[in-house]
Parts: sequence; structure tokens; C-alpha cells
Amino acid sequence: MIAFDNTYARLPARFYTRQAPVPVAQPERIVVNEALARELGIDPAEISAELLTGNVVPEGAEPLAQVYSGHQFGNWAGQLGDGRAILLGEVVGARGRRDIVLKGAGRTPYSRGGDGRAWLGPVLREYVVSEAMAALGIPTTRALGAALTGEEVIRERPLPGAVLARVAASHIRVGSFQHFAAAGDREALAVLTDYTLARHYPEAEGPLGLLEAAMRSQADLVARWLGVGFIHGVMNTDNMALSGETIDYGPCAFMDAFNPAQVYSSIDHLGRYAWNAQPGIAQWNLARLAEALLVLIDADEQAAVAAAGEVLAGFGEMFERAHLAVFRAKLGLQRAEPGDKALIEGLLGRMASSRADFTLTFRALASTGDASAYITDPGAWESWAPDWRARLAREAGDPGRIMRATNPAFIPRNHQLEAMIEAALEGDFAPFHRLCSVLARPFDDQPEARDLALPPKPGEEIRQTFCGT
Ligand code: AMP
Ligand code: MG
Repeated sequence: MIAFDNTYARLPARFYTRQAPVPVAQPERIVVNEALARELGIDPAEISAELLTGNVVPEGAEPLAQVYSGHQFGNWAGQLGDGRAILLGEVVGARGRRDIVLKGAGRTPYSRGGDGRAWLGPVLREYVVSEAMAALGIPTTRALGAALTGEEVIRERPLPGAVLARVAASHIRVGSFQHFAAAGDREALAVLTDYTLARHYPEAEGPLGLLEAAMRSQADLVARWLGVGFIHGVMNTDNMALSGETIDYGPCAFMDAFNPAQVYSSIDHLGRYAWNAQPGIAQWNLARLAEALLVLIDADEQAAVAAAGEVLAGFGEMFERAHLAVFRAKLGLQRAEPGDKALIEGLLGRMASSRADFTLTFRALASTGDASAYITDPGAWESWAPDWRARLAREAGDPGRIMRATNPAFIPRNHQLEAMIEAALEGDFAPFHRLCSVLARPFDDQPEARDLALPPKPGEEIRQTFCGT
């Protein structure tokens, strides 16, 4: 028995549509995340293929599709909603309340032209990358399991259908607020604000308190993304969670060679969601959240705009602080000194001009203190390293230890993900399981997995990722 304790299903009917998963032909379990199941108080043996695909709806579940709206690539897209995800319900685990969602579970009233399904590739990709994020210590939705449906889905070609069971602190998005603001539904906004505060930020108060708490968690999240070379790829307002978790692993990617303006998503032609654009986009999305909350902030619109603007103006400093904290730790610095920002920028600038592998450069700093094999521009390493060494000399303790716990040896690299998916399409899930197990310990040197620490060889580079849902 899964001990569901559903609160979203108690919210007003206009927050969702009750919708059962659409059964599939032949459920087949690919993987169950046993550790996560136990953390949620669920016996892993209960997570059957039938449960994962939605063929069996467990007792206590109250399946529903949430409604939300949003801006996509800066344009108002109107109503979106769960087009292929169904919330089974909530459980209260060791780390608090969690949603359990089946992604790819069939059409809902919000599917628009879509089939409500997912194919194996993105399901395995999200499984591996979201679990890798969790192991890196970065707030994220998790993967509880995956199953094949025994049905084909048609994308550019027929592909095996699959479902991912996703676990999240909640699925409340900036777009959830925008949805009710666009409808002029002040009452729903007030309910959603109270619900979100109670669920995520019980210490905060009112719409401005919520805005500030969301800003803080996004500043922290995006700083951590930058610290591992992560590019989300679709930071639309419907893909930004109020919980501060990374959500939606569509066209995301971890960078190999460092290029601050790196983009992988095939549809991000203008680089809107490039690596270095992410803090600005987070702020843009938060401004949309603030707009949605205006009617709750003050009955006088001008006063509301002024109050929200004052809170929003704090984002730059919040982000700067979070960013410095992340990169200081990457350089082994525990104390703060005024020159730290320049030291960090000096390194990143040299990494960019050498096209240094982001992960291996920092790992080299952590393990040997010598990144000259990656920062190869003539004189570049020699012109930076002495300043760093002098700065490290003013630190107490063992910086190497902090650095090895901060700079991973392993990230989910694109070319490995692609190879893993190719193998799975041939029926070989060994590379998938191997990636999962190595990426569960990203800070440990795992000599037997040295091949997975390597960047792509010439010809192996993946230049584009696809929403490919
Ligand atoms: P995403 O790009 O994953 O953030 O999805 C944006 C919107 O498109 C959301 O409302 C999704 O539910 C919807 N969507 C994406 N793929 C499908 C699909 N295969 N069937 C139905 N809706 C979908
Ligand atoms: Mg989405």
C-alpha cells in the first residue's frame, strides 16, 4: 500500500482536471529506483510495470492533470497544462511531501495536438540526468522508475513508448500563477499563494514573501547549474518550479568544452537559454511571477508595481552571492576576499579561450592543482595559477578535500546519453544501468569507469539536443 496523502486534489476544481492514465498494451518494467522508493516510504516491490504505466491506479491515488499557462521563448503561449503527465497523488517521505507523476501516461484535456505519450529516449535521458543532478547535490525532480508501454509512438519515425515516474516537491510553476492572473481569477491566485507558501516556504508570508523566497531558491539553483556547466535549455515560465527544483529535462545538456554562450537545444536559435543567459532568464521569469501576484500585493496597481519592483531588484545581489559561493567552493576557497570574483572570472575567461573541458578542468584543479593540460592557450595557465596558489595559501584546512567534493569527476555527457539511448533501442539496457550507477557517485574517482569521465572524441560531439518528447 502506498500511503497517499493528496492535498492538490483538495484545491478548487479549476486547478486541474481529474484524469486517469490511459492504459497501454504491454507494460514492462525497465527500472525502479529502490533507494528513492524507500525514502518515500514505498516498498520497491510495489512499483510494478502496471503501476508505472498507469494500467493499475493504486489505491489512494487521485489521478489528475494540472492546468497552467506560460511564456515560451519569451512569448505568451496561453493555456498549456499537463498534456502527457498525470499526477497520481502525494506521499510524505523522509524529506517531506512529494508528488508522484507519470510522464507519458496518455492524453489529457491539455494535450492539444499531442499524443500524451513519451518515447524511450527522453524517458531514459530524464531518468539518468535528473538522478545525476540529485547526486551532484542540486535541487531537482527525481526519477522513481520507468517502464516500456509495448506501444509505438510516432515521432520522426515509430519509436518504443515509455513512461517515467517522476517525483517532485511539487509541480507548481510560475505558469500556474500566470494562468490564474491571465484569467483575472484573484481568488484562485490567493489560494495558490497560500498553498505554495504552506508547502514550500512556511516561514515566508504573503505574495511578496513568496516572491522573495522563489527568487532566493532560483538564484541558488541557477548558480549551481552554472557550477556544473548545466544548460537547462527550455527555461520557459511553465518549466520553472516554485519549489526551486530543476524540472523538465527536455533538451538540457551538460557542457563539454567551455563556451559561456553555449546552446544545445535545436529550437533555441537566438541563444535565449544559453549557459550564461540563465541568470537573466531566471530574473525575467521571476518578473512574470511578480506580475501575476500584483493583484494580491496591493489593490492600488502602482503601489503593487513599486513594492514588487523593490523586491525584484534584489535578485542581482542574491544571484551574485550564490554564484560566488558556488565558484569559491570550486576553487577551494572557504573565506571570502574582495579579489575572488576577479580570480574566478580570470579562470573562466582562460577556460573559454582554450575551449577547456569544463568538468575536467575543475577536477584537475581539485586533484592535482594543475589544469595546464586543459588551459592550453600559451601563457594562460601560468598567468593565473600563481594568483590562485597565493589565494589558497590564505585558507585554512585542506582545500583539495572541499574541491573534490564540489568538482565532479563524472557528469552525464551528451555523447554518452546518446550512445545509451541507441543501445536501449537495440534492447541493451546495460549502458543505461552503468551510467546510473557511476553517476550516483559523481565525486568519487571510479577508475573502472574512466571512459565515462572523458569528453567526446572528435566526431563524437553532440551539437544539438531536441525536445523530442
Ligand atoms: P515542455 O516543452 O515539455 O515543457 O511541454 C510544453 C507543453 O506541451 C506542456 O503543456 C506539455 O504537457 C505539452 N506536451 C509536450 N509533449 C506532449 C505530448 N507528446 N502530448 C501532449 N502534450 C505534450
Ligand atoms: Mg514542461
